[in-house]
This record gives sequence, structure tokens and C-alpha cells, in this order.
Amino acid sequence: DAEVVFLGRSNVGKSTLMRELTGHDFTTGRKPGVTRSPNHFDWAPESFMFTDLPGFGFMKGVPESQREQIKTDVVRYVESNADDILAGVLVVDGKSVIDIIDRHSGPDEVPHDVEMFYFLDDIDVPAIVAVNKMDKVDDRDERLDDLCDRLGLYPPWQQWQETIAPISAKRGSIGPLKEALRTHFHDAKRDDLL
Ligand code: GDP
Repeated sequence: DAEVVFLGRSNVGKSTLMRELTGHDFTTGRKPGVTRSPNHFDWAPESFMFTDLPGFGFMKGVPESQREQIKTDVVRYVESNADDILAGVLVVDGKSVIDIIDRHSGPDEVPHDVEMFYFLDDIDVPAIVAVNKMDKVDDRDERLDDLCDRLGLYPPWQQWQETIAPISAKRGSIGPLKEALRTHFHDAKRDDLL
């Protein structure tokens, strides 16, 4: 089966999104940084295998060393399975992602989300950015154009609908992500990767 991996900082709504996509509850018994191993789930109508990778970045009560370890584990998992991975869905919080990226950009610092986006590109895993919590965002087009800019994609964002998927997992509005996944699925089939 084609594998789709989900990665993102903690609290961006990754569990909510995966529950919406699969009907499985990913939150039960899950504490930040504790569930270290990937969870696998199948998805009809296409036969994807969905892998939930642990959330990285800041987590209250989780020491820096453990956070670094989680990120290393995520990177290792994606690297070692890259050949079978159809797409990497990087989930971000649409309301805060620009502020967080800008706060952590500097001469010696690359923000986690930007780093992960480039990492996927480096190892030839197609990246889909699921821009979640769009229900909380007023200046939608401007926000999505800013995100493109930070990720090195030329705005307007509408040119990147296979890559930028504005959604609201909590409201069940995840159509753009499903569309992007289908596109990658069909591209892969056409290229005989599946
Ligand atoms: P995870 O740590 O990335 O798995 O995040 P969770 O799925 O546990 O969600 C973190 C918080 O964000 C919860 O309070 C969710 O209810 C909330 N949340 C998730 N998706 C959305 C969304 O689309 N819109 C809004 N407003 N809140 C959301």
C-alpha cells in the first residue's frame, strides 16, 4: 500500500484531522511526546496507509532533549520509508504558523515547519501542507500567500493546490486535503509508482 505520513508540531490538530479522515480516535491515552511509535491506519476508498507520527516542537512539560529526540525519530522514520511514502502531510495551525515561523527565523535558526518542508523535498517525498484551523483565520488569502512566501513557493497560493490545503479539521472541512491526496495518488499511479 501507498503510505501517507502525517507530521506536525504538537497541538496543530493532527489527531483531530486523522480522526476526521479515518474515523479512528488518535487521542485516547495519548500524552505529548509519549506515543513515540508510528500508528498505521488504512483509508478507503483509495488504499492508503496513514501513519501518525509524534508531534514535535514545544510541548509543555517535555524537556528539550526529549523534544529533539522525537524530531530525530520522525526524520529517521520518514527517511527510512521514503521509497514507499506517497506524500508527507505537514499539518500546521493556520492561525499561528506565520508568527511562529517568523519568530524562529534567523541566521542560525530554521523554524521546524520550514525545516520539515524542505526535508521532505530533499528526500523526494511530495509535501502537502494541511493548513488547519482556518475557521479562526479572517484574512485567508493573505495568510496563505504569506505561508507560500515563507516556504519558498511563489504566491498566489491558488497555484499550489496540490501542496497547500486550507482545512478546518474540527469543522470537518477537509475537502482540499482529500483533493490534494487524490491528485498525488493518481500522479503516482500514472508514474507507476504504485
Ligand atoms: P495534535 O496535538 O496536533 O494532535 O492536536 P489535537 O488534534 O489534539 O488538537 C489540538 C487542539 O486544537 C484541540 O483543542 C482541538 O479541538 C483544536 N482543533 C483541532 N482542529 C481544529 C480546527 O480545525 N479549528 C479549531 N478552531 N480548533 C481545532
